[in-house]
Amino acid sequence: MENLVEQLYGNRNLPNNQLKALLSTNSYDQDLFAAADTIRQRHYGRDVYIRGLIEISNYCQHDCYYCGIRCGNGELERYRLTQEEILACCKEGYRLGFRTFVMQSGDDPYFTDDVMCELITVIKREHGDCAITLSLGERSRGSYQALFNAGADRYLLRHETANCAHYAQLHPKDMQPDTRKKCLCYLKDIGFQVGSGFMVGSPYQTLENIIEDLRFLQELQPDMIGIGPFLSHKDTPMCDFPNGDLALTLRLISVLRMMFPHALIPATTALGTLDRNGRELGLRAGANVVMPNLSPRRVRKQYALYDNKIATGEEAAESRTRLETRVKSAGYEVVTARGDVRRV
Ligand code: SAH
Repeated sequence: MENLVEQLYGNRNLPNNQLKALLSTNSYDQDLFAAADTIRQRHYGRDVYIRGLIEISNYCQHDCYYCGIRCGNGELERYRLTQEEILACCKEGYRLGFRTFVMQSGDDPYFTDDVMCELITVIKREHGDCAITLSLGERSRGSYQALFNAGADRYLLRHETANCAHYAQLHPKDMQPDTRKKCLCYLKDIGFQVGSGFMVGSPYQTLENIIEDLRFLQELQPDMIGIGPFLSHKDTPMCDFPNGDLALTLRLISVLRMMFPHALIPATTALGTLDRNGRELGLRAGANVVMPNLSPRRVRKQYALYDNKIATGEEAAESRTRLETRVKSAGYEVVTARGDVRRV
């Protein structure tokens, strides 16, 4: 067994059946988590990077069947932050020690290139030592280029699933499975540090699909990989599907750490929502990033991708001390740094 885990380290060629064996039973878990932690420490020590997440809008023109902010959800109160509000979040975040700001939203056409570029320019002027990460969904190559030229450093766009048939089960017909993959290629090509990923336990997902996701990531070689459990949302067509599995998510974090030793891997909010210790368990399984919420308190519940999203505990940026204590209790150290990828 140790062999199998050892073989996984940085390996492009571990056969599918061996990957499946690692993912589908709990017999290997302790070895797997321990090996992932060793690899993580080899590349990143005990450092945990923090990102201040600012959810700038919950308007979305897409209708993904799993997502609570889909345009078809008429129950949701919509909001959009102003430039002033976003800058105030950054200022507060900077004071709290954040050196990366992640601006995420639904695919909201209000945030045109002009609006975004102006915002990026001002943030960079005020906080030149910070990295800007965007997660605004699918845009044109020209648009990504403009955002990069304005100073954005990183872009997060999960591919969601690498399998076309599975993609069609999760998304309406007007969304093409290749679009996100194409966008990821543009982003890489332009020079962004790129993040991708997928939900664990999304409706209809099979273990074969997950293996395809891993293979796709091997082709893409992203700098950041975000995975979290699927969590159902009551006002979506997928409200009756069960939530993703904690153990499988943790195993996958370990497998990702072994296959992509240099990757920045967050212990996600969804993981922390599924289990109150989810994020600590994620760190112990190989994750090295957490993304506390810096959005204004009044909108946090409205950025409702899924039900019961945590929004006011340690995941909130203002509780940095509590977060530090928790991270320490898991055996790691929060650092104040941009936390760029370490390729060597
Ligand atoms: N519009 C942006 C941001 C989407 S929200 C984009 O398209 O990239 C960020 C991520 O949340 C999504 O990529 C998806 O993987 C995840 N997400 C959406 N609904 C979810 C749910 N019900 N459970 C868990 N994760 C979800």
